Amino acid sequence: MVLEGKITSIDEIFSQGLKIREVEVVDSLIPGLQQEVLHIGLVQKQTDAGEKSRFKALVLVGNSDGYLGLGSGKAKQVRNAIEKGTADAKLNIFPVRRGCGSWECRCGENHSVPFVVTGKCGSVTVELLPTPKGVGIVAGEVAKTILGFAGIKDCWTRSLGSTRTIPSFAMATFNALKSTYRIMTPKDWTG
Ligand SMILES: [Zn+2]
Repeated sequence: MVLEGKITSIDEIFSQGLKIREVEVVDSLIPGLQQEVLHIGLVQKQTDAGEKSRFKALVLVGNSDGYLGLGSGKAKQVRNAIEKGTADAKLNIFPVRRGCGSWECRCGENHSVPFVVTGKCGSVTVELLPTPKGVGIVAGEVAKTILGFAGIKDCWTRSLGSTRTIPSFAMATFNALKSTYRIMTPKDWTG
């Protein structure tokens, strides 16, 4: 549908509830998408032929303006793992709802999260809290990168669990941002 010109923006895909199946769709509808490798791990597997080790790359993509994706890829070579992870991240892309959820700020601009959101992955829980303008992202490096890629400028974070496990922590942060779209607020019912 993208090739046929029926869909011309990434917003249309999500407002119509369509699923992205091709990386090319993301590339053509979101130009200037940036990517960052968040983590590379070594995965070892016991096979008949002996021990087999592969690299697992966790890759983040985002346009710093409300679109974010996180994905992973496994391969024998780091470069291939990153390539696969990048493709996976693009297919996982979704819109992040931003806003000014801070009662101390009320500027109405999209600089923070619109309300408190929570995300989980394994034993890790991440909570994102609206912050007044100018506070910045108060978080560790990984969360800072993820929130920045989503286009959030101000945010407080709280986390529980083994937050040093980068993949789980990143996934929990990602899930928290995902839930900005699942939650409806009274403002949305009337608007
Ligand atoms: Zn504000």
